[in-house]
Amino acid sequence: MNCESLGLKVGIEIHQQLDTEHKLFCCCPTIQRDVEESNFEFFRYLRSKRSEIGEVDRAAEEEVARSKKFIYKSYDTTCLVEADEEPPRELNREALQISIQIAKMLNMKTVDEVHVMRKIVIDGSNTTGFQRTALLAFDGYMEIDGDRIGIDTLCVEEEACRKIEDRKNEVVYSLDRLGIPLIEIGTAADIKTPEQAKKVAAKLGMILRSTGKVKRGLGTIRQDVNISIRDGARVEIKGVQTLDILDKVVEYEALRQKNLIDIREELKKRGASVEDNIFDLTDIFKDTKSKVLKRAKSVKGILLKGFAGLVGREIQPGRRLGTEFADIAKMFGLGGIFHTDELPAYGVSEEEVNELKKVVNANRNDAVVLAAGDSKRVTGALKRIIERTQYCLSGVPEETRKANEDGTTSYLRPLPGAARMYPETDVPAVEITDEMLSIEIPELIEDRAKRYVKDYRLSGDLASVMADSEYFKLFEEYAGKVSPTIAARVIHSAPAELKKDGVNTDRLNKEHFRIALDLIIEGKIAKEGTEEVLRILCKKPWVTKNEIVDMLGKAGDIDSFIEKLVQEKKDFIAEKGKHAFKPLMGIVMKEFRGKVDGKVIAEKLKRAIENVI
Ligand SMILES: [Zn+2]
Repeated sequence: MNCESLGLKVGIEIHQQLDTEHKLFCCCPTIQRDVEESNFEFFRYLRSKRSEIGEVDRAAEEEVARSKKFIYKSYDTTCLVEADEEPPRELNREALQISIQIAKMLNMKTVDEVHVMRKIVIDGSNTTGFQRTALLAFDGYMEIDGDRIGIDTLCVEEEACRKIEDRKNEVVYSLDRLGIPLIEIGTAADIKTPEQAKKVAAKLGMILRSTGKVKRGLGTIRQDVNISIRDGARVEIKGVQTLDILDKVVEYEALRQKNLIDIREELKKRGASVEDNIFDLTDIFKDTKSKVLKRAKSVKGILLKGFAGLVGREIQPGRRLGTEFADIAKMFGLGGIFHTDELPAYGVSEEEVNELKKVVNANRNDAVVLAAGDSKRVTGALKRIIERTQYCLSGVPEETRKANEDGTTSYLRPLPGAARMYPETDVPAVEITDEMLSIEIPELIEDRAKRYVKDYRLSGDLASVMADSEYFKLFEEYAGKVSPTIAARVIHSAPAELKKDGVNTDRLNKEHFRIALDLIIEGKIAKEGTEEVLRILCKKPWVTKNEIVDMLGKAGDIDSFIEKLVQEKKDFIAEKGKHAFKPLMGIVMKEFRGKVDGKVIAEKLKRAIENVI
């Protein structure tokens, strides 16, 4: 598919957690907690809040229609600000300073004064019912392969709660993530191909990590993508968690919009229409073999005139137009939908299909969509599906979708309206001073990698890994003290190998690497002993350097060990001569591997054997 000829336009919005000490509007730490550690919880129901101009947001309205109970898991680090029982504190200066640095790296203009705004959120992911956000910079750019991509806005925001569980009528959230400083960077819709989208996102990520002040790991950076093609519509795709699928997401969305436009043209030709009627079809399926329909308290359907064959048409790999309707049904807590393009099947007989077509007065050009379950939910879902099918006649609906793991997308909610912001009066505005603006731009990771190749003679791959490591400063510190390759081994290769071995390396930190590196410098372990030291620290992160030395045993015993061994194996050595070395080396290594350098052992053993011969 040639995306450029479709008039593809893509903008990317990146959300990145900042690695500050405190949260954005309180003094709580920004650490992820284990839900098991939660020591209390509270709950809220959503109230429909009106925005400033008095209109209920369409997205908000839909969320209310599927109203849920929100449960918040709290911790010993949770404060009253997070529970929305106390007003927010002042805007976190550290977060502001990092954000200014990033704005400078993206050639942006900063505002004179930062004003905090409230952005309505309706999914319960904020205890307040809104997210605080502040515009910091605008009108910047970055360059990709000679193309200039505009950077429209940079906002500092508070991170939402972490979703733990989405049950039918309840959502469980964890408060540990709420309020972690987040920056939101939005590019202009200047991106023209899926590949370029991926490159822009990768470069933005690299720029952000270059500050050394952003959080790392799954979920700490998220990409939303805005996509449209000519004659299509702006569709916002949420939560692309990994860069690997970003190009696919863009390509599949362009494909979906193109197919929806093709379907529209076909519907126009057929003079298709959608009726508002919702038919009660429960009686038809009284004795059906379909378990889903039989079990349902209520089965209802809608008539789509002129839609035959199109509901079953594929619009993205593995997803049909009918899947779009099923997404809506699922939003209302139903299992999905049935439609006549795929019936008879799933236990529904031909007689039942004929009967239902008769009741709704469908002819062979028409399609019928069925939903089953609780009567109220079914009606709610079908009403929304009718709205969605009406969009089929005009093309692509503007909406928010979520990225699936395979790069396809599912319906999430209508595109939020523009009137979602109003001022946060509890937080004073902050003036951006010349002093704040004087912060220097850090070395870019890609430049650092080049420097590592040149100065440390690392391979290109290893240089890239080390330059992008959150421990790059530690690496530089020790590259001169031990050697660049040994420092890289301790900080990168050894933990990676342990992880491959199934060891949980999550708790390894800077201090642990320091212990291993210092032990090498002090000659207390050989570089081969790194894995052993780190293995101990993975299991017991609290162990000190001296304790590790004790645990590894005294390396000083090696001379007497070799002496004793050689005496014991005198006859063996006499018989084998120099060939006795290999098997004996095995025995010594078994005892001293990791504690004494292999070369040193070999020399000592060779000498001892020669003495006996
Ligand atoms: Zn707090």
